Amino acid sequence: MQTIKKDTYKHHNTGYGPVFQTIDIEHKDYLALVEPDTAFWLLVKKNKLGNLISDKKFIEYFKEKSSSLKKDINALRFEIKPSAVYLNPTEKCNFNCTYCYIPEEMRKNGSEMSSVKMLECFKILKGYFEKILPAGRKAQIIFHGSEPMMNREAMFNAIEKYSDSFDFGVQTNASMLDESAISFLRSHEVGIGISIDGPSSESADKNRRNWNGEGFFDKITPLLGKLNDYSKFNVICTITADNMEYLSETVDFFHENKVRVCMLNILRCTQERSRKVKPDEEKAAKHYIAALERTHELYKKTGRKIIVANFANILIALMAPGARKLMCDISPCGGGRCFFSVSANGDIFPCSEFVGVPEYRGGNIFSDAIDSVLSSAVFRSMTGRMVEDIYPCKTCAIRHFCGSPCPAEAHTMNGGMDRPGAFCAFYEAQVRYALRLIADKRESDFLWEKWDAGTETLFDAETLNF
Ligand code: SF4
Ligand code: SF4
Repeated sequence: MQTIKKDTYKHHNTGYGPVFQTIDIEHKDYLALVEPDTAFWLLVKKNKLGNLISDKKFIEYFKEKSSSLKKDINALRFEIKPSAVYLNPTEKCNFNCTYCYIPEEMRKNGSEMSSVKMLECFKILKGYFEKILPAGRKAQIIFHGSEPMMNREAMFNAIEKYSDSFDFGVQTNASMLDESAISFLRSHEVGIGISIDGPSSESADKNRRNWNGEGFFDKITPLLGKLNDYSKFNVICTITADNMEYLSETVDFFHENKVRVCMLNILRCTQERSRKVKPDEEKAAKHYIAALERTHELYKKTGRKIIVANFANILIALMAPGARKLMCDISPCGGGRCFFSVSANGDIFPCSEFVGVPEYRGGNIFSDAIDSVLSSAVFRSMTGRMVEDIYPCKTCAIRHFCGSPCPAEAHTMNGGMDRPGAFCAFYEAQVRYALRLIADKRESDFLWEKWDAGTETLFDAETLNF
């Protein structure tokens, strides 16, 4: 990792000077200048670049700011303690989605966590988080797939008993969300995330079907009207080869149904089966950016925003790196570091993406101390995976806004943690687009209100006058 010797350098790109890289952001007037190690960036008018980088005041300015920027990015990369757990109450699922990261046999015939074991698990988690989190701060538990609602009783029982100790969320295929479940989850302020992959059954049901091959779009979408007023509700759409061309229509559909927050997540390619529907990156990026533009048109037309949370996280990574919430786009990623995953039999994995990858089992919550699991060799191979060690990421100017996800893909698809994941061009395009929005001063239109509450300005490009 580069060391910036604050008082010794006078020039950039030589000696101990900072290494500035330029990025073509495909904007008519601006390009970006980045010092990747500190995640410092600046938009510069194309005809002013020479003046800027040869201006000694600029080097002095960077010198003054570099240590606090470095401290900020290092805190995010290396000093965060775990504060969330993805808990799979069952291995079983009533769906057989093409791109699921849980192996088929597990989803068909797997085990589930009994109510008694679930309460034991929560007792252990409570004791662990009380030790490491500041008093009064609640850890987050997200009930996750397979399909958590297949073990509704144990899950709801734990929520009831532990709602004073944790904040809860559930990620579900929504096929079993009846009136009483919705009412229970809302009354306990449980976050609800549901999956819908398109604006019609034709696109949404293509890869999301039950074991009999039946899609659920028509049964699930009426739920939008029952949940769209709930502040802790969001919808996830996974981008595949089959639905990417409907992304803008998907945004229209969500907006029509008054969805306030959604995620348009590019497919994870951890399992062989999901690679069959891997989209072409360049095409996926084009449709994704068109869908983001569509959110903007809708906002301007109706005054009502629909936030694409995974993209908002990239904007936040640029505007206020320490305030980002999702942890796939920082290196090391959040898996095994900011959160970990507990399977239905209590096995602990760095992230849910690894639940079907047995060699990434770090231990078991019922028999091993969580601390020792988090410092086990497999967890260290995750938390020690850094962009600086990965080709081509090590020289990529946007490495701290992309993070080179995903280690699960790197391991299962590309042969090792020192490899990149399944996508690169998609992430590049996303960061370029985010920088173009900032150049055009449109970024706030893509972020939730008061996104900057509690952030501190370390560097304000508006005040520069070189
Ligand atoms: S990058 Fe992959 S392993 Fe890391 S947190 Fe994201 S999904 Fe999990
Ligand atoms: S995956 Fe691509 S965009 Fe991301 S850090 Fe690596 S080289 Fe850069």
